[in-house]
Formats: sequence, structure tokens, C-alpha cells
Amino acid sequence: LSAAAQEVVDEIDANNVDFLRLQFTDILGTVKNVSVPATQAEKAFTEGIYFDGSSIEGFVRIQESDMRLKPDPDTFAILPWRNRDDGTASARLICDVIDTSTGEPFAGDPRGVLKSALDRAAEHGFTVNAAPEPEFFLFEEDEDGRATTKTNDAGGYFDLAPKDLASDVRRDIIYGLQEMGFEVEASHHEVAEGQHEINFTYDDALSTADNVATFRSVVRAIAAQHELHATFMPKPIAKINGSGMHTHISLFTEDGENAFHDETDEFNLSETAKQFTAGMLEHAPALAAVANPTVNSYKRLVPGYEAPVYIAWSDRNRSALIRKPAARVPAASRVEARFPDPSCNPYLAFAALIHAGLDGIERGLQCPDPVRENIYDFDEEKREEYGIDTLPTNLGEAVDALEADEVVMDALGEHVTEKFIEAKRQEYDEFRIDVSQWELDRYLETY
Ligand code: GLN
Ligand code: MG
Ligand code: MG
Ligand code: MG
Repeated sequence: LSAAAQEVVDEIDANNVDFLRLQFTDILGTVKNVSVPATQAEKAFTEGIYFDGSSIEGFVRIQESDMRLKPDPDTFAILPWRNRDDGTASARLICDVIDTSTGEPFAGDPRGVLKSALDRAAEHGFTVNAAPEPEFFLFEEDEDGRATTKTNDAGGYFDLAPKDLASDVRRDIIYGLQEMGFEVEASHHEVAEGQHEINFTYDDALSTADNVATFRSVVRAIAAQHELHATFMPKPIAKINGSGMHTHISLFTEDGENAFHDETDEFNLSETAKQFTAGMLEHAPALAAVANPTVNSYKRLVPGYEAPVYIAWSDRNRSALIRKPAARVPAASRVEARFPDPSCNPYLAFAALIHAGLDGIERGLQCPDPVRENIYDFDEEKREEYGIDTLPTNLGEAVDALEADEVVMDALGEHVTEKFIEAKRQEYDEFRIDVSQWELDRYLETY
């Protein structure tokens, strides 16, 4: 056993862990678990745990379905909501997926896709830091325990409850996150009723993607203990703010310098940061398919709700796709991609953003000027004058853009690209042929 693996085995003993959840995600970002008795821990580290990959979304065909999970000892965490009265506990380990026929990392494993993106950054001498700002809604459950869209802190319905009911839930969520090793920086009630945001400290992009996957499970599990449903659906309610997952990115050099910082620049952004930004802007339509991967994502990307619509960057306003947040210290110079939403697979979204940015660096792309006005107010003529394009307006257009973008398809790799496009085309088609309540309300009695 490696020293790190031995440490995990010792922790398992010390904490009376009786079950281990071996965790990974499918292409759509759903967290999957294989549960093994903790007595299997050593074997999991030395031989890996075999499972049938044919039942996982986008993994493999039936006839070649044996996969092996290789736990990453750095990701060991005890699950705070599973501590039992008898003193036993459950823990999780995040795993890489190995293709048993080759012994190589499986091409359909999103975590492996992100690792490849980080390898490409490393070839340039960079490590990648990322920090997300996931937003979510807390909704009431109905008598059958099913999610509603009734917010739990709306006036009226909860008149008798203490006013800060929602912050009690949020506090428990934060305790749970802290127990799992998160460093929570800030949390606040978001713009909309029932909407919240919790920010955690930046980390290397792989740990951050692991954290996002974990975050969503922790938030849901702890909300459920309060009989609430937490949703990361991007736009659960029309005509109010949706939920984004702004993603802050910076590149650091091997000697720990922030490669995005330049004291002498008016925005404190280095040429590297500007080229990286230019790369994300150029590939934005295809990136949207990955960072905004659901039909519902495009209901969020409309003017007026602090979500981006137009492909531009800014050092000021929040209608831009990419923003340069004010940084107090050089280490904090970074760019904020404001279009991702929390329905994305964080591994794939980060991988795609990183490859797009690196493409900008490799090609020395020129970054356009920042746009300081509110772009929501621009008419078409003014947008043309400024050379501002728009994001795809629906999932179908986004998938078209992905299919036309070699850089973003290469970022995902052939296997993931094929399965992803297939799944997303089908999702969009189902939506396209559906007849919605809006149509019935509008037309049923009129025609
Ligand atoms: N909810 C907004 C979005 O969809 C962001 C609001 C904010 O954080 N300022 O991106
Ligand atoms: Mg925020
Ligand atoms: Mg926010
Ligand atoms: Mg933000």
C-alpha cells in the first residue's frame, strides 16, 4: 500500500467505518456509487474494484462492460449524514475508472478527461486553480415527499416560522461541508426567494471538480433532512433569477506565481490571462453545450437576470460572459466565467474551459476590449458595431456549435463527445416535440 492509502486504512479503523462508497460520475454528471464493506479497502487500493460499466450512462457497450474503479486516497471523507447511533460510519472515496481490457484510464471517465486537460496545462508549465459559486434553490416537499417549486422562505406560506428558517438549513449544510473537509468562504441568500449560494475556497481544478460533485450530494442530503428539496436545476421558476455556477479560473506557474497577474496592466491581467480569456470567448458557443448542458439551461441565459447572453468580457458589469473580478492580492487575479450552471458535469465543463483557454494561449489570440456598458441594453446594431456575438439560444444550437468545434470536441475526447452529443440530441428532440403548458394556455382556446 502507498503511504496515502495506508493512512486511509488507518482512518477507516479509527473511525469505525463499516461501508465505503466508491464514487465516480457518468458523462451527464450524475454521481454513481459502488458500496463495498470497509474490509475491502486494502483490496480496493491494490487491485481495484470491478464493476459492470454497461449500466452507466455513456460508458460502454454491453459486450465490453468490465470496468475497474481505482480509488484516489486523497479524496477520503467520512459522510457526515451517515454517522449512526452505534458509532459506525460510512465514508467515500472518489475513483478513477480503468478500462480492464487495456489497463489504461477509461476514455469515458469525466475525471480522466479533466486530468488530460490538466496534463496539457502542465505541458505549458501551468497548474490550474478553480473556484465555483454554485447557486441552488430550496423547495418544499409535498405530502408524498416529492419536490415542489414552493420556496421555504417565501412570505405568506411560512408566516409562522422564524424568519431565518432558510439560514438554519444553510448553516447545517455548511457544517456538513466542513465535516467533509470543505473550507467554506461565504454563503448568502441569493436574489430570488428560496435561492442560496455557498462559496468554497479555490483549489486545483481536479479537487474543485470533485468538490462540486460532493457539494451537490451534501446539499441535497442535508436539505432532505429538513424535508426540503435542494435543486441545481438552472431555471426552476420563470421570470426570476436562475441558478448559475460562476467559475473562477487562474493559471499558476511551477514556482507558485500567478500567471494571470500583471501589476502593470490596467486590469492587472497578464497577456496569458487575456489570451486564455480570448480562447474561452472564441469557443463560447461550443463550451455552452458542456457548461449549460440541459434544455432548461437556456431558460436561464436570457437578458435581465444577471446571467450572460452575449459573448464579451468586462471588468465591471455582470451581463458579460466573462468578468474580471477585483483582486486584493496578486494571487487572486483571475477570470470569472459566468455562463456555467450547476447542471453541468464539473469535470467536463472545467476540462472544456481549460482547453479553450489554452487554445487561446497557443494561438496567441488577441483579447477584445472589455465592454463596460450593460450589454442587455444593446440593440442588434450596437452589438454589431462592438462585434458581440450571442450564446446559443437553446440546447440544439449549442450541440450544433459543439459539433463544429474541433477544439472542444478534442477536449472531451472521441468517446465522450460521441456519447454526449447522442444523449443531448435526444434530450433536445424530446423537448422539441413536447407540447408545453404554455402552448395549451396560449392556443387551446384561441384557435
Ligand atoms: N443568479 C445569477 C446567474 O444566474 C447570478 C447572480 C449573482 O451571483 N450575482 O448567474
Ligand atoms: Mg457570488
Ligand atoms: Mg451568486
Ligand atoms: Mg460571481
